[in-house]
Amino acid sequence: MQRLTLGDFELIAVSDGAYRLDGGAFFGVIPKVMLSKKVSSDENNYVPVGLNSIVVRTSDHTVLIETGIGNKLPEKMAKIYGQPAKLLENLSAAGIAPEDIDIVINSHLHFDHCGWNTVMRGGKPVATFPKAKYYVQEGEWQYAQRPSERDGVSYMTDNYDPLVASGQMQLLRGEQEIVPGISVRVFPGHTQNMQAVMVRSGGKTASYISDFIPTSAHLDLNWVMAFDLFPLQSLESRKKYYAEAIPQRWLTMFTHDPKLPWGHVEKDEKGKMMVRGA
Ligand SMILES: [Zn+2]
Repeated sequence: MQRLTLGDFELIAVSDGAYRLDGGAFFGVIPKVMLSKKVSSDENNYVPVGLNSIVVRTSDHTVLIETGIGNKLPEKMAKIYGQPAKLLENLSAAGIAPEDIDIVINSHLHFDHCGWNTVMRGGKPVATFPKAKYYVQEGEWQYAQRPSERDGVSYMTDNYDPLVASGQMQLLRGEQEIVPGISVRVFPGHTQNMQAVMVRSGGKTASYISDFIPTSAHLDLNWVMAFDLFPLQSLESRKKYYAEAIPQRWLTMFTHDPKLPWGHVEKDEKGKMMVRGA
């Protein structure tokens, strides 16, 4: 577990464990001869994929960004992807109980980003974080009601519909501040309404950009996942992001990096993207 201080806030990287994805799907059009210089795959071409959530402690709030895969995957999916289900254990190791979380923010509603939003109790999905308000973009939730055949398998209604129905999950429209210093901003590409979480304190900025730059091996503009619904928009979103994040030295948080939860993205003298650990 890694921690750091950002202005007056404390950031804690808490993992739900590591799962696995096909290396080809994870790196889109990039040939294996190139990506194998950065990551190693097993005999089935799986690569390890982290599930990094971030806890932000402000003076008034304990905010959880993203909730991993959770423990409710159907057997068939658990077999394909794995279901590590470590988030609650790791939160507890950080001294954080589910009741301590008062805000949960999901970047989008694919199953590997909102799985611990709910747990089954008495055969029904209930909020894992009973005192928290949950937030996601309204457009993402609307899409989740009728997802395309392409990514429909990634949407599991038990992760969000009961929370929307009870009013515990709030639907956002575009850029919005959630609490002082923590806001969201939409970066389309992976899905149309995926939101990044911007954390600002004491003149410093950290950004949880989720699947739009999932690991530190995905920094180059065209290293975009095959899962992205709008890859050309992903590319444009990255250009916009880097144009601010690099000169302003934002801390970039990586949702799926199995080793590095965050770092500063830089361009070296040859214009090559690189990351420096924080
Ligand atoms: Zn996703």
